[in-house]
Amino acid sequence: MSDSSKQVPHADLTGTRVETRAVRAGQRRTPELEHSEALYPTSSFVYNSAAQAAARFAGDEPGNIYSRFTNPTVATFEDRIAAMEGGERGVATASGMSAILATFMGLLQQGDHIVCSRGVFGTTTVLLQKYMARFGIETTFVDLTSQAEWEAAIRPETRMLFLETPSNPLGEIADMEALATLAHSNEALLVVDNCLCTPVLQQPFRHGADIVIHSATKYLDGQGRCVGGAVVGSNQLMEEVHGVIRSAGPTMSPFNAWVFLKGLETLSLRMKAHSDNALKVAQWLREQPGIETVLYAGLPDHPQNGLARHQQSGGSGVVSFRVNGGREQAWQLIDRLNLFSITANLGDAKSTVTHPATTTHGRLSDEDKEQGGITENLVRLSVGLESVEDLIEDLDRALAGG
Ligand SMILES: *Cc1c(COP(=O)(O)O)cnc(C)c1O
Repeated sequence: MSDSSKQVPHADLTGTRVETRAVRAGQRRTPELEHSEALYPTSSFVYNSAAQAAARFAGDEPGNIYSRFTNPTVATFEDRIAAMEGGERGVATASGMSAILATFMGLLQQGDHIVCSRGVFGTTTVLLQKYMARFGIETTFVDLTSQAEWEAAIRPETRMLFLETPSNPLGEIADMEALATLAHSNEALLVVDNCLCTPVLQQPFRHGADIVIHSATKYLDGQGRCVGGAVVGSNQLMEEVHGVIRSAGPTMSPFNAWVFLKGLETLSLRMKAHSDNALKVAQWLREQPGIETVLYAGLPDHPQNGLARHQQSGGSGVVSFRVNGGREQAWQLIDRLNLFSITANLGDAKSTVTHPATTTHGRLSDEDKEQGGITENLVRLSVGLESVEDLIEDLDRALAGG
């Protein structure tokens, strides 16, 4: 082992921007002085003495105990995502869904009420409607873009407003500042699932959010390898969320944390490239006769483009559209594509195509699908990092029936 007295200090990140933090925040260098972040695949940690073990367990001495609740690689990921979002503390989780579950379990109790936008990830709706309801936490679903519906849904017991912006798959934009004001005047928290934009394109804390949620599975990884999630917020709120992870166990594995750390280092370059490619695809699609509508707030004449520009520095990579016709026409187009993988994942370097009505949102009732705009002719693209010319040629050929 090298001489630890020659420890090299970490870069001072005070005042740095998100691109710098994505590369450098949170690193804990060992006495080996490795440059890339160390991976600690260990379930537990050892102590010098019985007294030290007791002090650690009692919380009197900081330090690692067991990787269900602390691990240095996972902690590096937690500190990095928190630094990027501009939040006090991050809590890593086994998946995006367990980040959402831990937020509900840690911060709500029986009898509390949630107002949630209709345009959220399909499984989030299932978690709320089927499981949280079973434990006495009710949810009212509202139109993401209707301030009047959010206001009308507030009850005395409302403790949380939950949304995604842009929404998946419809790409609608929420006015976070207006909703933060509404939440805070009703003693409720504003929780934003920032999966589609990542902190590179949008930092919800700047617009009044109290908690930011991530499915790290998507853009934070960026290459479709690992499932994971994160919650970011104040120390006080995250203490409760971390308590759920510690006690219930949906922990991020050190290996996955390490993969996400490597993903974060290229995140700012990737998000710009995804956004550029997606905008070109959206612009091209809207000119095509076989397409009814293109749903992408990055388009300059999209009704919410002004709000998108206020909150986001790029449109992200998800472009949805409705084909002329119904399920048959949507499926035909999907099956004819060559460069778009048919898969439910998004945020991958590889472009993907999804039919939301029969996959990601297939478990919703017909009524919920209709209210949520999940029509049979809706197709969602996650535009990847291939040549955009090749992607457009592929879409062109598929639309022409080739
Ligand atoms: C995928 C996704 C989730 C769930 O994340 P998992 O990592 O699959 O559990 C939550 N929110 C959004 C917006 C997503 O796209």
